[in-house]
Amino acid sequence: MSENKGIFVYGAGISGCGVAEVLAEQGKKVILFNDEHKNVDPGLVVKLLKNGGKFVCQKSPDQCLRESDLVIISPGISINCPLAVQAKNMGLEVIGEVEATKRLYSCKWLCITGTNGKTTTTTLVGEMMKSLPVKTKVGGNIGLALSKEAEGLGENDWLVAELSSFQLEGVSTLKPNIALVLNITPDHLERHGSMANYIAAKANVFVQQTREDILILNHDDSTVMHFGEQTKSTVCYISRKRILGRGVFLENGQFIIAWGGKRMPVCLVRDMKIFGSHNEENALGAIACAYFAGVPLAEIKHVLTTFEGVEHRLEYVMDINGVPYYNDSKATNTASTIKALESFAGHVILIAGGHDKMTDLAPMMQLVKKKTDALILLGEAKKRFYDAAKAAGVGNIYRVETFAEAVNKAHELAKKTQVVLLSPACSSYDMFDNFPQRGRVFKDLVRKLTE
Ligand code: ADP
Repeated sequence: MSENKGIFVYGAGISGCGVAEVLAEQGKKVILFNDEHKNVDPGLVVKLLKNGGKFVCQKSPDQCLRESDLVIISPGISINCPLAVQAKNMGLEVIGEVEATKRLYSCKWLCITGTNGKTTTTTLVGEMMKSLPVKTKVGGNIGLALSKEAEGLGENDWLVAELSSFQLEGVSTLKPNIALVLNITPDHLERHGSMANYIAAKANVFVQQTREDILILNHDDSTVMHFGEQTKSTVCYISRKRILGRGVFLENGQFIIAWGGKRMPVCLVRDMKIFGSHNEENALGAIACAYFAGVPLAEIKHVLTTFEGVEHRLEYVMDINGVPYYNDSKATNTASTIKALESFAGHVILIAGGHDKMTDLAPMMQLVKKKTDALILLGEAKKRFYDAAKAAGVGNIYRVETFAEAVNKAHELAKKTQVVLLSPACSSYDMFDNFPQRGRVFKDLVRKLTE
């Protein structure tokens, strides 16, 4: 890492502040730069100043770039943004926070990427790896700066990294001991420019791998499956749909690992607390990761059968009069709501709506017609969702103004054999700061129903 000039860290969010702090603590001159006003921890600013660095909020980066020879970009900012282009033209090296973490520590890396299911799978793997006799830390897209989490890890310790395509744009030497690609469907195309670029960013997770590294790929996803033809890594496929000669798969409702000439049953799908075909996929990925990291089978089974899921992802809230309530506030797009609806046999009372992402609603509404007994709509998306539901032949539709009204309406309608599900298919920004806040409000309102 840079010796003479400063290190320019672009973006004062979780990752940017994290890496700036770690570098400053190592005695590096760090310029933490944000192009609009932002408050950061005063303690961090003191650490920056101590080594001749600073925290700067201003539009023009010119002077700060002249004082630096390395730029570290936060994952929220594109590696091809104008500032990065300017820096490269000035001869500076430009890397992402993940790459910076890689250069700072010598620990082992287990990287998890995919369009959906990353946080659930990463959390599962993190739990499973707690039983190893070495240190393991979890970080990345899950909301913890990798550079901070990795502090203190030695060369036999593990860093379990949830990586988004944004984070993978800025890596060049990352060579995970184990990598998992869960699935790839169109997403974030506004930033990557094309599906090909998005796929290429995901592929960065394994491009540096060699034969001694493990690459776990989902055989059921054709884009991901084909990665197996482009790599030098040792490939392990996972599949819900096919019984594999070698790999991790489902057979007669049981998770099986077939590897090294052995066939090892892990546990039954029905013994897991999390449910839905998407969570079977996440479990397969987690089993494979933990197996190759050396977690004993008994421990993998223990975590699978006790893990209750991550908050706001098909999270069970409580039963009221025999009706279970579920919080799936993380479902901020129609694909996620489709997964949620597919996870129930039917008789769902669905609460949906919020800030409209303006995507095609027809496929979701076909499923709404099949799986729901009532649809309760609110938020900015209400009208468009209502029209699309009507067009798909959905019958019982209610439009409400507030979240309290939505929950009360669901309670009023719900009978035994039905389930109440919040799965908005929209982001939350019309009524809330973010999806966790929306989920917490929902859960509070549900709990109040019993008071
Ligand atoms: P991510 O971190 O990739 O956003 P999460 O684990 O937070 O993924 O899950 C977010 C939402 O994505 C879930 O609520 C669910 O609707 C959907 N989802 C989870 N796992 C999968 C999967 N394997 N395939 C497709 N959709 C999934």
